[in-house]
Formats: sequence, C-alpha cells, structure tokens
Amino acid sequence: MSQALSERIKSLPASATLAMAAKARELKNEGKDIIGLSLGEPDFNTPDFIKEAAIEAINADYNSYTPVDGYVELKEAICEKFKRDNGLDYAPNQIVVSTGAKQSIANAVQVLINPGDDVLLVAPYWVSYSAIVILAEGNPIEIRSDIETDFKITPAQLEAAITPKTKLVMLNSPNNPSGSMYSKEEYEALAKVLEKYPNIYVLSDEIYEHINYDNATPFSFAAIPSMFDRTITVNGLAKAFAMTGWRIGYLGGPAWLAKACTKMQGQVTSGTNCIAQRAAITAVRASVGKIKYMVDEFDFRRKRIIELVEDIEGFNVNVPKGAFYIFPDISSFFGKKLNGTLIENASDFAMYLLEEAHIATVTGDAFGCPNNIRISYAASLEEIEEAIRRIKVAVS
Ligand code: PMP
Repeated sequence: MSQALSERIKSLPASATLAMAAKARELKNEGKDIIGLSLGEPDFNTPDFIKEAAIEAINADYNSYTPVDGYVELKEAICEKFKRDNGLDYAPNQIVVSTGAKQSIANAVQVLINPGDDVLLVAPYWVSYSAIVILAEGNPIEIRSDIETDFKITPAQLEAAITPKTKLVMLNSPNNPSGSMYSKEEYEALAKVLEKYPNIYVLSDEIYEHINYDNATPFSFAAIPSMFDRTITVNGLAKAFAMTGWRIGYLGGPAWLAKACTKMQGQVTSGTNCIAQRAAITAVRASVGKIKYMVDEFDFRRKRIIELVEDIEGFNVNVPKGAFYIFPDISSFFGKKLNGTLIENASDFAMYLLEEAHIATVTGDAFGCPNNIRISYAASLEEIEEAIRRIKVAVS
C-alpha cells in the first residue's frame, strides 16, 4: 500500500549515489565484474591509534546514553581543532556532535528553514543538500557553474540568485564532486555580497578540508569576521580519518543555533554513539601529519587518473585540488551513439558505462551539473587503471 506513504517521503528524491551502488551490486550478483567508482568512501582502514582509543573506551565501560550534543571533552577537542586548523573561536556551547556530518547539515537546515524559504545551492553540490532542503519544505535554488570556471561561482551569480525569500547559502570546499577549492580571496568576494543581506545564513561544509593537494590551503568561510556570526561550519571524521561507518560529524555555529540543533537531535536520535565519540576525541586532537599517508596516496592516484582520463577523446577534465573525485565534462558525447546506444545526457552516459564497461560512476545531474559524471578515485590503483582502460574502450 505505497499510496499510504506521506507526501513528504513521496516528494523526496532517492540518493543517486546509493541508487548507482545498488544497480552495480545487482550486476555484481549476476556475476559481472563490476568496478565501483561511485561511492565517496576512503578505501583505507581507520588508523590504529583511533581504533585503540575505541577499544579502551569499551573496556572502560562507556555504554550509557551520551549528552545529546556530545561529550564535553569531545566538544572541547573540537573547539581546539577549530582554533588550530581554521582560526575559529568557538566555545563548547556552540558545538553539536551528530551522527555524521549529514545529520549536522540536516539539523541546521531543519532549525533554520521555514516552508517556502529559498536555500541557495552552489552547484556542483553534494546530492543530499537538495533532499535535506526539500524535507524542511524549503526551495532548493541552484546556482550553476561548470568546468570553464573550475566549478566555482562568481559574486555576481550569487547576488543575482538572492531574493527576499533567501535564508541560507550552502557552500562546500573542497567540493564533492568537483574537487575544487575556493581560495580565501574568492570566499571574501562572496562574503562582500552577503554583507548586504544580514538575514542570510551560510552553511560551510568542510568535511574534505584535510584532503587537499598541490599546497592548496583550505579556508573556512566563518574565518571572515563579518560572516562568523551567521555561518555554520560543518565537519566530520568520515573522510579524513577513514571513519565513514563510525558516524561522527559536528557543527560550530551561533549558540542559539547549536541549542536548537540539540533540541532537534534530542527528539530524533539523541546523542551519538558513545564509543565512536570517545575515539573521536583522539581523532580530532590528531594533527594532519597523522593522516598524511592517506592524502599522499590519494594524490598519487589523482595524478594517475587525470593522466589516464586526459587521454580519452571527448573527456574534458579539470585538476581537482581536494577530495577524491574527478568530475569530467562528457557533454561531447550527447546526441551520439556509442555501440548502438544513444547518449542523450549524463545519466545515459553513466548507465552506458555501467552496462558496457561495468564501471559504476555517478551522473552529474545529481549534483546540479548535467554535463558531467563523477568518478571516485578512492579505489586501488589497479582498479583505477583497469576502470579507465575499460571506459576508454567503451567510448572509442
Ligand atoms: N558532506 C559532503 C560534501 C559529503 O561528501 C559527505 C559524505 N559523502 C557528507 C557531507 C556526509 O558525511 P558523513 O558521512 O559524516 O555523514
């Protein structure tokens, strides 16, 4: 009786990345040799020093409900991290720890957005942003960019998208899916526009901050003094510490907003897992040096995949500065037939790669960039090389 389902769930788009992973799994079960480059998940194990902290917590009998907004020690460690890495001065009552950065983002949107409010999504944007906004009955409004501008928007584009209904702008640097990073100067130019609109808030998703290359320096939007009081800084452990399944994310923001997020979370999930939080104290205190080996390996693969993809005719790719994805423009294939299959858009192209080459990628439509596909290089070098070889054959 699916008719019984609420309008809320019916209006919610399914996650394109998870849908692609499900389709890939289905083909794999049929015995097809699928290489999955669709998920955003480091292929490393959680570092031993973090695992040890979790084991110690289990042995020390951490098993009770946790404070809804997180252990005080963890919030203090997060404040130190914000100061050390981002130059941000948050107090513990401005921090909320959640079950992944996804919940941090969902909490912030739920407590800020009224039905009918506009939320500006700077495309390309992470797939869940629009769904989270729709759940809060806000209007996701895309500001588009493409490979020509290195997937970044200009202050003029931001200003043109603002209306009296605009309540929130969602930013993400380093970016999933493009890997682009906004510099301090670029963010300052966007802030100049927002200074004219004191009722607009900013959510800055910095979950990939430690995964950056070529000496690119991540910059926190909240570090712009005029923006600090109306920026929500979101981060988490999933990507940098290879802890996707541990589910720890957090936000820093105005105390009134943190209080509201705590109230929301208190009625939906409560405080996040006690063992993961204890381990997170150790992870958050660790310096970037402790995870450098992973970043170095991603960097090696990044260079290799770019080199291989640049060699495929019809692929136009930028050089990402962060995260672990490439986001090639494949629009040159639109309107053409590949082995008898008409490619009309990026979804057709991604599906063709899955069925013909057995490579799982994600269509750019899901990220507000319909000319592109996302390929994750959080996979072994052998898988990457084999995947790109197959793609090249399939599109030649
Ligand atoms: N933001 C971005 C840009 C992401 O790519 C992801 C994970 N794919 C998240 C947030 C959510 O992270 P978490 O696993 O901590 O919920």
